[in-house]
Amino acid sequence: MKLIDSIVGQAAGIAAIRRDIHAHPELCFEEVRTADLVAAKLTEWGIPIHRGMGTTGVVGIVKNGSSSRAVGLRADIDALPMQEFNTFPHASRHQGKMHACGHDGHTAMLLAAAQHLAKNRHFDGTVYLIFQPAEEGGGGAREMIRDGLFEQFPMEAVFGMHNWPGLPVGCFAVSEGPVMASSNEFKITIRGKGSHAALPHMGTDPVPIACQMVQAFQTIISRNKKPVDAGVISVTMVHAGEATNVVPDSCELQGTVRTFTLEVLDLIEQRMQAIAENICAAFDAQCEFEFVRNYPPTVNHPAETAFAREVMAGIVGADNVRLQEPTMGAEDFAYMLQARPGAYCFIGNGDGAHREIGHGAGPCTIHNPSYDFNDELIPLGASYWVRLAEAWLARPAR
Ligand SMILES: [Zn+2]
Ligand SMILES: [Zn+2]
Repeated sequence: MKLIDSIVGQAAGIAAIRRDIHAHPELCFEEVRTADLVAAKLTEWGIPIHRGMGTTGVVGIVKNGSSSRAVGLRADIDALPMQEFNTFPHASRHQGKMHACGHDGHTAMLLAAAQHLAKNRHFDGTVYLIFQPAEEGGGGAREMIRDGLFEQFPMEAVFGMHNWPGLPVGCFAVSEGPVMASSNEFKITIRGKGSHAALPHMGTDPVPIACQMVQAFQTIISRNKKPVDAGVISVTMVHAGEATNVVPDSCELQGTVRTFTLEVLDLIEQRMQAIAENICAAFDAQCEFEFVRNYPPTVNHPAETAFAREVMAGIVGADNVRLQEPTMGAEDFAYMLQARPGAYCFIGNGDGAHREIGHGAGPCTIHNPSYDFNDELIPLGASYWVRLAEAWLARPAR
């Protein structure tokens, strides 16, 4: 493995920062302490910063030479609203908040790269270090773009990285095309007419209507979209009624839809609305249909994916750079890839064996209450960031 020596030398100090961030998790758009810490470190290392983009975002600007070329590296910095089960010293000190997705590690890996890039400017151009808030549902990437990220800091390409449990330490994974899904939510209210449960003919019962609807939605997946296209409809909430002897007035269905393309998403949304409205009409009920599109699909650009793969191979060897199987999870880096070419990759977090005394039961996955980022990755991820930036700025502009 070809790690950068100076990064390896500083890794213990960066791991201490990572554990400090882990102990003080902050939720979407509330990452004030984390942003202060990032800003203080970048400033200490002589890196000019811009603050406040997307509320709590921090951008570090590392320049060298005279070239106007630039590349962006992005880390998310937010935590999740869940209770940590670990009892080790760096466990969360905030009730109901936890770095269970390893964004503390993402922040640390980019800080380690920043520290090295500031001291060793072996490039001609600008590296933008993007510390982004609110990945977990808040759309911090979209907010930073709205606040002018790419206008204020013009960059040719942007790259992102997520730690991945189950993938061995020393492995990367990246694939071109869609790697994460679009995430969308729906809420359907079926308005019938309440009655005595013994006299159902006096009302319009929304419950059997809801049951038909839940079943019919799955025919969109099995009969309407092409079998080779990926798509998920999950009805996750069904709410109606409060008494065994009352036919409720209304029934509410909620859930999520995931797809890898906007075409499949359009199809699913249209079909869901048609099914919902027409089933309600058939049973003489009223229908309220709401469909909210959250994150778009995360789609890697082919040339930038191949480029990232080459950089990874230079560090861990081609055999340790795998293809990433797409997942139906979602990621707001999608917005950045809609605006600029780039690639979102995965760095192996191992099988959980790194976890010390005080961890809950393992091995575990991200969003698990006993999850912890593997500090062993800090020099590896940071070496990737540095080599990626250097190689990008060294190659001819396209
Ligand atoms: Zn997450
Ligand atoms: Zn995450």
